[in-house]
Formats: sequence, structure tokens, C-alpha cells
Amino acid sequence: MAGAAEAARAVILTVDDDPGVSRAVARDLRRRYGGAYRVVRAESGESALDALRELRLRGGLVAVILADYRMPQMNGIEFLEQALDVYPGARRVLLTAYADTSAAIDAINVVDLDHYLLKPWDPPEEKLYPVVDGLLETWRPTDRRPVAITKVVGSRWSARSSGVREFLARNEVPYRWYSSDEPEGRQLLCAAGQDGLRLPLVITPDGTALVEPDDQDLAARVGLATTPSARFYDLAIIGGGPAGLGAAVYGASEGLRTVLVERSATGGQAGQSSRIENYLGFPDGVSGAQLTDRARRQAAKFGAEVLTAREVTGLEINGASRVVRFSDGATVAAHSVILATGVSYRQLEAPGVAELTGCGVFYGSALTEAAACQGHDVYIVGGANSAGQAALYLARGAKSVTILVRGPSLSASMSYYLVQQVKATPTISVRTNTVVEAAHGTRQLEQLTLRDTVTGETELVDAQWMFVFIGAAPLTDWLEGTVLRDRRGFILTGPDLTADGRPPPDWELDRPPYHLETNVPGVFVAGDARAESAKRVASAVGEGAMAVMLVHRYLEQS
Ligand SMILES: Cc1cc2nc3c(=O)[nH]c(=O)nc-3n(C[C@H](O)[C@H](O)[C@H](O)COP(=O)(O)OP(=O)(O)OC[C@H]3O[C@@H](n4cnc5c(N)ncnc54)[C@H](O)[C@@H]3O)c2cc1C
Repeated sequence: MAGAAEAARAVILTVDDDPGVSRAVARDLRRRYGGAYRVVRAESGESALDALRELRLRGGLVAVILADYRMPQMNGIEFLEQALDVYPGARRVLLTAYADTSAAIDAINVVDLDHYLLKPWDPPEEKLYPVVDGLLETWRPTDRRPVAITKVVGSRWSARSSGVREFLARNEVPYRWYSSDEPEGRQLLCAAGQDGLRLPLVITPDGTALVEPDDQDLAARVGLATTPSARFYDLAIIGGGPAGLGAAVYGASEGLRTVLVERSATGGQAGQSSRIENYLGFPDGVSGAQLTDRARRQAAKFGAEVLTAREVTGLEINGASRVVRFSDGATVAAHSVILATGVSYRQLEAPGVAELTGCGVFYGSALTEAAACQGHDVYIVGGANSAGQAALYLARGAKSVTILVRGPSLSASMSYYLVQQVKATPTISVRTNTVVEAAHGTRQLEQLTLRDTVTGETELVDAQWMFVFIGAAPLTDWLEGTVLRDRRGFILTGPDLTADGRPPPDWELDRPPYHLETNVPGVFVAGDARAESAKRVASAVGEGAMAVMLVHRYLEQS
């Protein structure tokens, strides 16, 4: 259960343009939830959005939003779409008349609707309360965070400042950003006894000031779980991307004591995608953040333990137990392990790029930086789908977006539907046969030297923003000596290990490794980290589920 003090300040918001109906909904809600929640009512989408924005600034929590569909100016779906940006974690309900049911069904994907409720809802005991009870139940476990908001004082040009923002945003920790050169930021620095030379300063909801905190310290201080509650599990999953989350949902739901360890934030690469359009069941696309939020809640609902900001740096085999070692030396053991560590962005090797990373140069963090790019010229390096998605997302606010592609065309590396969208966006231009030769700037990115790979000519362009998407590599060196990998570091499994007709070295069982099993019995791989994997969200999730099925088979025999 959420703490009483916290729940007391969480809001249930209802918006209906008919004053009589609006009062009736609020009355029914107060009757049942008034003791634990604050019921706020509004009579238009605009005034409800104002209320939500004000609550957000004050660090308030919003549990459920109920909106009438038929409202003048802004209808319920339009309102919920905007409310999603302010409170993505709040549960969303559309109130509709029977005649509008089809609009409500359409809204399920557009605004990620949790429920639609037909009017009238009398008696509320039968029609309204069971729905709201269920929504509050699913809201509580994910939003059990201090009400007072975390404050971050930083500079746009400090790499760690953007790292902290990214970390908090991807873990859905509400925070407020203060620039260190604005009065409010200076006041907070002063209150913490800081001169602003070391940034960011993070002030946690309980008032603790942290200077340049690392992810683990930050996670623990803002209420994210970082320590396992038990010493031994049936299944330990390393990596919290789609494969790891998929495995956690299936593992925990099928009764395995499951712990998932994620070094940064759950969601993995998919969590950084502004819109995934080819995942089954989401015909209008779904943002990586929404998909992650749903998967994380689903895993938690079934009892999986999710640890954040803990990097795994070792795997040891100790008889039947598989011991997972964290970077700080602590360990957790399990009967079986699923490696779901995916891939990480490849670094752009050109002079100046490493020094300016976080200060105008970013790897895949287009979502958190998008607001700051408004009205600016943006460069995107790379020609694959991730680059195309980022270009489309950033083009909404940027003055111009230039995609730099090493090859002669986009179509060789990007899906057809994205190429069409890129072509149809007037503010996006594509420069083919072009590479970044160098990045220049003192405190921040100021210019780029671009080279034409055909003519060899170079050009110096002004640039404040560069986002790099040039492929990815698995970071699996920590498995050296334990788990077999191919020459690029991808993990070998099943048939790949027995291609020559012989079992892998030191394999002691009288069966060959299962399809997703490594050369270590009981250690499986799912998703992008596996050699020859499909590199798609759907296949990662599918392999997570399949790996759990093989874990069961392994446990039954051992
Ligand atoms: C911007 C972008 C857009 C994309 N869009 C699409 C799309 O539209 N459709 C599609 O099908 N695919 C898309 N993809 C590809 C898709 O996201 C990946 O195939 C998918 O995320 C792979 O899932 P995964 O769980 O195997 O690995 P990842 O998503 O890479 O997750 C791995 C996780 O493991 C963690 N980890 C790694 N090492 C450790 C360690 N040692 N200890 C603890 N944790 C660790 C990482 O922090 C990460 O969170 C996109 C990728 C990107 C980058």
C-alpha cells in the first residue's frame, strides 16, 4: 500500500463540461476516495490542463484522470493526449455515451486509454468504483515515490547534468530542472553551500543535497530499488530491455522467484525510441517510454523484483548455483540466469567528439534533449531506423534537421515507411556520402567538419546539436572465460555451439545446449545480445518468453 501521507495528496481529476455531471462524478468519487485522495474537478480541457501543470510544478501526484468525451473546444481524447505529456503515469478513463463507443475504442491506442466508462454509471458501487479501484491498484506500486519533487540544478553544457536528467526521465522519477545561471538555481546552490563549479546539484525530496551523484547513489536516494531483498532466486535476469522485461513477466507469472538487474534504466534501447510502429498490437505506434512503463508494471504485478542502476560485471559458476557479481563486489545467486544485456551505442571516432559528449553531442538521448533543441539546427549521424525516428521526433521543434549518412542513400539502411516520412518532412534534409571528420567547441559543440566521402572535400558548418546513431555493439567482455561469444562479442547459443557436431568444451550433460542456452548449462540469452538475433522489439520480447520456458525445462532436469 502507498504511504497514507502520500496517497492523501495524490489527485483523482475529473473533467466534464456539463456542471451537473461534473459535480455528480466528483461527488461519487469523493464519497469513496475522499479520505485517501484529493478529488479535483474541472469543467473544460483547458482548465484541467492548467490544473495538471500546476500540480506538476508543485510536485503533486495524479493517480487517475477521468475525462468526458464530448466537450466543446477540446474533446476528451484531445485533452487526454495532452495530459499524457504532463502525467504519463496517471491512469486514463474516458467517459462516453453509448453512441460514442467506437471513438472510445479508437482512443485506446491514441492516448493509451486504460478504460472507457459508459454514462450513466449508476449505481457507482457496480459500475464506477470497481473500475477506479482497479486503476488505483495498478497505479500504486509504480508511483510509490515521495510527493515532494527532486530538484536538479545544472548546466545545459555539463555532461553529467544531462546524464542525470536522462537517468531520472528514463526511470520516470519526477524532477524539476533549474539552470545554474538563473536566480532560482543560484538560490538552491547557495542554500546547499555550493559555488556551482561542480554540477549538477541534486536535491532529493527529503532535502538531501547530492553533488555530481552517480546513478546508483541517485537511484537509492530517489526511491528506486537497488538492493536485492533475497540472497537466492530461481532466476536472475541481467538487463532490463524488452528481452529482460519479457523474461521477468513470464518468469514471475509462472511462479519463479525472479530478480532483474538493470545497470541504468529499464526499457533498454526500446525505451529511448520516440515511436515504435511495428510492434504487434499497436497499430498507431507506441512510445518506448509507454511500452516500458507497461512492461515494468506488468513484471512488478507478478512479483518480479527489479533493481535499477546496478551493473553486473561478473558471472561465476558455483556448483548448481550461478552467482551474479555487481560492480561494487556484492553478489546475488540463482538457479538459472538469462543474459538480456542487448547492445550499446557505438562511439563516433573523430577528434573532439568524446570531449563534447553531453555538451551538444549525444548518443541516442534525443527524447530528453528535444525541448532544448527548439528552433536550432540539429545534425543526426546515421542512416538506420533509430536515426530516422530521432530525426522525425526532433523535426517537430528544431529549425532544421540534417541527417548525415555515410552511404549513397537512406533506403539501404532505413525501413521504407520511415524513408517516406523523412522525405515528407520539409525541415529534414539528408546528406549522403558524408562523415563527421571533427567536432569543435570549447565548453560546448560549436562547429562540425564534414567530409564528402566521394570527392574528399571538407566543409565547416555551425552546429550546436549532434545526435549519433551509428550502430551498436554488445558489451559482454565481462563474460570472457565463462560464456562463449563470437568475434564481435555476441553470445553463442544452442545450435551455434554445436555447429561442428560436437558439444561445447567442458559441456558435461548428455543433451546438447537448448536453443537459447549458452555453453554454461542454466545460463540463457535473449534479445540483441545473442549472436544472429533479429534486433527487433518483438523478437527480443519473444526470446525472453522462450528463454523462461527453457529455464523451466532446465530446472525440471537438474
Ligand atoms: C532509438 C531506437 C529505436 C528503435 N526502434 C525500433 C522499432 O521501431 N522497432 C523495433 O522492432 N526495434 C526498434 N529498435 C531496436 C530494439 O529497440 C531492440 O532490438 C531491442 O530493444 C532489444 O532488446 P534487448 O532487451 O535485447 O536489449 P536492449 O534494449 O539493448 O536492453 C539491454 C539492457 O541491458 C542493460 N545492460 C547491459 N549490460 C548490463 C550489465 N552488465 N548489467 C546490467 N544491465 C545491463 C542495458 O542498460 C539495457 O537496458 C530501436 C532501437 C533504438 C536504439
